[in-house]
Amino acid sequence: MLTDARLERAGLADISRRLEAGDRLTLEDGVRLFESPDTLALGWLANRAREQRHLDLAFYNQNIRLEATNVCVANCLFCSFARLMPGDTDAYTLSLEQALQKLRVHAHEPITEVHVVNGLHPDLPFDYYTNLLRGLKAIKPGIHLKCFTAVEIAFFADLYTMTDEQVLRELMAAGLDSLPGGGAEVFAARVRQKICADKCGADRWLAIHRTAHALGMRSNVTMLYGHIETYAERIDHMLRVRALQDETGGFQAFIPLAFHPDNNQLRKLPAPAASETLRVHAVARLMLDNVAHIKAFWIATGVEVAQTSLWFGVDDLDGTVQEEKIYHMAGARTPEMMTPREIQRLIRAAGRSPVERDTLYNVIARN
Ligand code: SF4
Repeated sequence: MLTDARLERAGLADISRRLEAGDRLTLEDGVRLFESPDTLALGWLANRAREQRHLDLAFYNQNIRLEATNVCVANCLFCSFARLMPGDTDAYTLSLEQALQKLRVHAHEPITEVHVVNGLHPDLPFDYYTNLLRGLKAIKPGIHLKCFTAVEIAFFADLYTMTDEQVLRELMAAGLDSLPGGGAEVFAARVRQKICADKCGADRWLAIHRTAHALGMRSNVTMLYGHIETYAERIDHMLRVRALQDETGGFQAFIPLAFHPDNNQLRKLPAPAASETLRVHAVARLMLDNVAHIKAFWIATGVEVAQTSLWFGVDDLDGTVQEEKIYHMAGARTPEMMTPREIQRLIRAAGRSPVERDTLYNVIARN
């Protein structure tokens, strides 16, 4: 138990008492959490909330990532993955057969999820995506397909002249099971205008997730931190998530994503420090009292920070991944995959108990 005097010195004693009483934190509270100089006191509060929900459990899954094309009409300043035109150096678009092969080579493994995100390709037909979903299901019928960010859904709707709901319905009919949380970045208009002005705004991003939840799908939500956003803008982002979650209950996990500065237009900014990464995850755990899971995506945080985050509010480390391009093109020095045994070992080494889950957090195995 952290002493009251320590919490008092950290400026967090009243917040601690209100959390114990079950009160919700406000925007002002969230900014105070970020402003407190005592990272360990903040972590202690977040860990208390985390252990109340999940005891010492730490979740992971066996998944693969598939990025079928990096051709993208948008120009997000933080992005190192996209290439603006087909034919640009390093631009690629997998044929359907090449994309399906990415799963086929792992089909004999106990993988439960394929996570698909792509650039916004201006020339592919809609049936490229529906055939991709159908093909993935044909290879491994029980596989969960978590595919296409809300930004992609909005882009498909505009490009193929459908409503967002029609796009979601057609993709679900082809096998889509849930939405990943990407493309949320920071919801504040000031930030979006500066770093990702070309892609769908916050209201539409949230509306697409609202619609997905109404159609029976679950989804995740990310936040890209460590670039030009203020503390208040981070908390505003979390509060918008909390408000939609009050409405729908459809978000499963909140996933802070660290900005990586290599090979993109924000390369003059430093990457967020490890302590900042721990603080963002901790504050998210405390603000988001209605989102079950806080995930540290180990590819983005680094493996050691992900381990430490399990004591700073995090209860989920994503999955085995196998191959990842988006962060590695931005300078991530993490491996591109881990075996289940490696993830279990690093969770145990951090003093937590590994639990393999599926995408919907059904327990597959306690290791
Ligand atoms: S973040 Fe997504 S939408 Fe933005 S440029 Fe990169 S691939 Fe395109």
